[in-house]
Amino acid sequence: MKCPRCGSELKTTEIMDHHILSCDSCNGMWLHRYQLNELLHDMADGVGDFETISVEYNPDEERLPEITCIECGDVQMNKINFLEYSDIIIDHCPRCGSIWLDKDELAKMEEYTRKIDEGSKEVKDHSLYAFMQRLGELAYSLFK
Ligand SMILES: [Zn+2]
Ligand SMILES: [Zn+2]
Repeated sequence: MKCPRCGSELKTTEIMDHHILSCDSCNGMWLHRYQLNELLHDMADGVGDFETISVEYNPDEERLPEITCIECGDVQMNKINFLEYSDIIIDHCPRCGSIWLDKDELAKMEEYTRKIDEGSKEVKDHSLYAFMQRLGELAYSLFK
């Protein structure tokens, strides 16, 4: 599989016992739908499961060009805002649910989820509220 961002060959790397496809050239990583949730769960010491998919499209996101899903081939990935308000913009395939993280995005997500967990003032109040709501919802439908 080729990196959707720079075209280099993706390699399997091990991150906290998870086998993740990543790119040595641009340091991005390719995740299946369930893998992101599992990773964050492990990285943030099991603070809970995260519904990462916001339907909110982000037309303002101009930092990086849109990419095509490497699983589906011809599907353009959407830019979505992780947990809706984090301002961490990730690429998501609307067909298969795969996720592309550019360099440092996983680290930012980990930091953000930790802040939520600690109830930090740095996280906007509505994020925390949305997060608490989601935890309730997740009791019924776990993100897989
Ligand atoms: Zn790359
Ligand atoms: Zn796809």
